[in-house]
Parts: sequence; C-alpha cells; structure tokens
Amino acid sequence: MARLITIFLLVIPFVMLSQHHKLCGTDNVMKNYINTTRFKNEQAKILKLENYNVNTKIIPIVFHIIHDGDPIGVNENVSVDQIMDAVNIINEDFNNQNSDLENVIDDFQNIIGNPNIEFRLAKLDPDGNCTSGINRIVSSMTTQANDCIKDLIAWDDSQYVNIWVVESIDSSIGAAAYTYLPGTLWDEVEGIIINHEYLGSIGSSNNTPYKRHTLSHEFGHYFNLQHTWGWGTNGEVENCNYDDNVSDTPNTIGAYSTCNLAQQSCGNLDNIQNFMDYSSCTCMFSVGQVNRMQDCLNSSVSQRNNLWTNSNLWLTGTHDNYNAEACLPSVDFYTSYVDRICANSPISFISNSESVSSNSVFYWSFPGSDIGFSSEINPQVTYSSSGQYDVTLNIISTGGESSLTKSYYVYDPPNSLNENFQNTQFPNNPEPNLAWSILSPNNEYTWTRSPISSTSTTGSVRIRSRYYNCNKKHKLFSPTLNLSSYALGSGNPLKLKFDMAYGKRNNQTDDLLVISFSKDCGNTWQVRATWDTDDLITTNFGNVGNNFIPNQTEWIEKEVNIQSAAGEDDVIIKFEFSGENGSYLYIDNVSLTGEWIGIHDGHEIEDVKLIKQLDILGRESLNNSLQIYFFSDGSVVKKYKLNPGNN
Ligand SMILES: [Zn+2]
Repeated sequence: MARLITIFLLVIPFVMLSQHHKLCGTDNVMKNYINTTRFKNEQAKILKLENYNVNTKIIPIVFHIIHDGDPIGVNENVSVDQIMDAVNIINEDFNNQNSDLENVIDDFQNIIGNPNIEFRLAKLDPDGNCTSGINRIVSSMTTQANDCIKDLIAWDDSQYVNIWVVESIDSSIGAAAYTYLPGTLWDEVEGIIINHEYLGSIGSSNNTPYKRHTLSHEFGHYFNLQHTWGWGTNGEVENCNYDDNVSDTPNTIGAYSTCNLAQQSCGNLDNIQNFMDYSSCTCMFSVGQVNRMQDCLNSSVSQRNNLWTNSNLWLTGTHDNYNAEACLPSVDFYTSYVDRICANSPISFISNSESVSSNSVFYWSFPGSDIGFSSEINPQVTYSSSGQYDVTLNIISTGGESSLTKSYYVYDPPNSLNENFQNTQFPNNPEPNLAWSILSPNNEYTWTRSPISSTSTTGSVRIRSRYYNCNKKHKLFSPTLNLSSYALGSGNPLKLKFDMAYGKRNNQTDDLLVISFSKDCGNTWQVRATWDTDDLITTNFGNVGNNFIPNQTEWIEKEVNIQSAAGEDDVIIKFEFSGENGSYLYIDNVSLTGEWIGIHDGHEIEDVKLIKQLDILGRESLNNSLQIYFFSDGSVVKKYKLNPGNN
C-alpha cells in the first residue's frame, strides 16, 4: 500500500505538468495586442449598460472541420454527433442548464449569472445556399494550426461565429483552443480555433469538465471575458494585482487542473468554479460576467451586435420562423492527399460529403474495378490494369439526391525516371504514365515549367516563395514508378539525381525543400532530404534579387539516397517546397541511378525456361514471401508470393 501511494504521488505532478500547456491559448495570442492604442480605444467603445434587452439572443455558428484525410468520425474529422454534442453543451452552459451547476458552493450561489444565449448552426451560407453549418476541408495545415487556417475557409464574422476544429494547435500558442477578444483584429476574420480533443464530451473528446466546457470558456473570451485572474499568467502571485474587469469575481491567481473549493489566493475565497478559470470543476458564469458579455453583444465593436439581429438571423437561416429544409447532399471524396491509384493495390475511397445522415444511401460506381459498385460509405476497390477510370458517388438523402464523378488515371508505372521538363504540357504529359502532379494552395505561385535549363535542352521546373505567407506547402509528385528492377542488395544504392539552381533573394529569405518518397501509392512517406535556405544555395556571390536566372556554373548536381525504394513497384517521389521572401529554385534532369539487376518481365516468352527458384536468402526452400527466379536466357525476376509455402 505504501508503495502504491508513492507511485501515485510521483505520477500526479507529471500529469499536471503535461496538461499545463494544453489549456486556453487566448492570453498568448492577446499579449501582442492588449497594450496597443487601438485595442484600448476599441475596448473603451464597449459601454457598460445599465439596462439591456434580456430576451434570449440567438447566435449563428459554423464549424469548419480542417482534417488531413481521415474518414468522417476519425480523429480530427469529427462526427456530426460530436459536433451536435458540443452545440448542446454550450447551449446548456449559456442557459444555466448544465447539470454540474448544482455543485456551485453556497458562497457563490448568489452571483450565478444566466447569459441567456442560444447558439444555432447556420442553415444558410454567406451566398444564401442551404448548409448544414458544417464544412469539411482537407489540409495538412490542421497540424500545428494557427490563424493561417483562416485562409482555407472563413465566413463573415459579422454574421457567424466561425469555429475551426483542428488536429493540433501551434505549440507556441500551446493550447486546447484560443480566440480573440472583440476589438483585437481588424484585417482578419475572428472566431474560435479548437483542438478536436476538446470539442464536446464524446468521440475524440471526453466528458471531463475542462474538456466539455472548453468551447464555453472560449465563447466567454469571444464575448469579451478575461480569465478570472486578468491578463497575468495562470497561478502567479502577481495576479493579485490584476483585475478581470468584472466586479463580482473575487481577485485570484487562478487554479490549475485542481478543484480546491476552499482556495484563497488573494485574501478571499476564489471562485474556482468559474468557467473562466482553469480548475477541473468549472461550471458557472457570474452576474458581472453576464453583464460584460451583454455589453459586448450590444456594441458595434467587432460587430458582435450584428450577430443576433433579426435580419442576420434570417440571412443565416437561424431565425425562429425560418423554415429550414434538409439540404441536398454536398458530395465530395478522395483517396489520399495525392489522390493516386496504383494497379493491383487496394485503395480506399473516402467520402468527405456533408448534409448526409445515418439513413442516407450511398451508391458508388467504379467501372473497370474489381467490385464495380458499392453501397459502403468508404469502400475499398482494386484496379488490375492501367488506364483512365471514372468514379461516381451518388448520395440519396432526406434533402434529395446529388452525385459527383471524378476521373482517375491508373499508372502503368515506368521502370525508371528521366525527366528534363522539355514537355510544355507539364505537369500533364501526352504519355499519361509520365504525368507529374502538383498539390498547392490555389492562391500562391507554385511549381511551374520554365524554359531555362541546366543543359542545352530547354525546360526545368521552378518555384518562388517571394509572396508566400503562412508557410503553406507546395507539393510536386513524380509519376508513379516501378523500381523492381533495382537491386536490393549491396552495390551502388538507388539514388535520385537532379540538377538544382538556387540563390538567396535577400536576408529575409527563409525557404525549405523536403524530398521524400512513398512506396505505397502515396499513403505514407519517408523523408530523405530536408534542405533549408543555406543548404539550397548554389551561387557564389551574395544575394540574387527577385528574379534569379542561373548561369551554367550555378547549376549543381544533387543526389538523394532512396535505396529503400529499390525493389518496390508503386513508388512516388515528392518535392515539397515552402518558405517566404525567396527568389527562384530550379530543378532539372531528374533521374535515377543505382544497380540494375537486369530484371525484365519478358520471361513468359517461349523457349525461355525457369531454371532455378530461390528465396531471398538463397535457399531452395521457398517459405519466404520474396523469391528470385532465374531464367535460361540469363534474366532474373523477383517475385512476391502472397502465400509462401502453399505452392
Ligand atoms: Zn482562456
């Protein structure tokens, strides 16, 4: 027993420490603004009202689920149920209907305030079209997310409160969620960014009080509440000198993940049960806080007073008398973020559709595939030969029927790579098996063919980060390659080779090129090179200015070892560029070198006989999934056996 207690005591502080960085990040993002004249002036415009309209205020909200390709209901691509659960919880919390409110201790019973605010999912989008109030966007920016994700999608914040749900939040903000008080931002849309693990009480979140009430805490900030300890750092004694500008919340240094109802940090009993504290038992707003939120909602600062107007409720489809009908399904799907299909490899099609319900009917058609059609939500199919294939998803839902057809090209992968960018149709190619593809933010200059070349031929590919912001990634994918002809063993390793030219534009240039490959058709990637600005430079003399054009001496041959892709038949190589303030990076003559073991697929021709069959360790017992075939014409073929020992 004594031993158990010791372990307990040792473990608890670590748990608390690790959680210390997971709570609200609003203070972190606000600290750059709170002492600015503009913020102070804007805040001064929010008048303290003696009387205000006490009727329920309806606030239109919209969820933007930013995810990196997970199916709906998995990880940050949270289910509709989890979103509805979060909406129910904030509506309980803002109407004194939360069951934990009964835990408020006697000392604070008399200052419990009722915000009387009702949140409703938007039923009309900014263009007046039917919406479920939920948008799902595929983007790798969901990891370490910050305000940059607002570039992906943001609705007018004078009409809706935007709630972006992400995989994780930028660790420099280090938070479960964050937002801005009114009057802070003027050139950016406002809203709440929340880690999916803190959204609602089910699914990828859970029912601990600080998780279930996270969104209510953030709405407190959005409606102009500070933490109960003011602008200081949670837990510091100096906080006794600061106020939260709410008269009935006692001065406090704040609690953290504990629930000490007797806590007195600044000479009187703390209201640690307040939603704007970090204790593990928050459950109430005070009357003073409700007044402050109402002052904000009656003020034109950041147009919070427009949200609940009659006209806005009609425009957003949230008015009591608006007869909301079920929307037509909005159909969308993808395979992986590169959206490639490889022959003979099962591939999952993932629905990213909205305005569908549990009784919606999915009908996929996959002409040319092994299954032809499917009624699953995320079916898996296989294509056995190369070519162009249409994929159609038809959804019948309460709101009607919609469909989407996309065309996919299944590569017959070439067994090497020789690209000198002479083809003017790049990234497309008259020979579809040699086509490249590009994935990039659509508002930034990305990978483009240029007539400049490292050799006497014309053509290279180039990119420039001069006008980039937010460190968005620009991805360039090679054709799918069959590298089964490259030797697995000793000898010269398989290498990616190319000519590169790059100069630094100025001292603010900060670029990055990452080269990786996938051997499973783009599902997973192995990074093989990470080159920053200094690693990239191929010039000798200083900065190069805006429009770098390399001379012959400024091209350098680069090599990247990709030996672990040797022997694989569905390889894709990825060049991923990001940065800011840069000039041009050029790439030309992309090829492969390595030990070729003379494998070819022509062994089925007559009068060529199989003379020996060995496993990868040279044994004649064939209980190994990888085998080497030796033919009488001197050729060697490597084969994978799916059921070794059964033949
Ligand atoms: Zn906070």
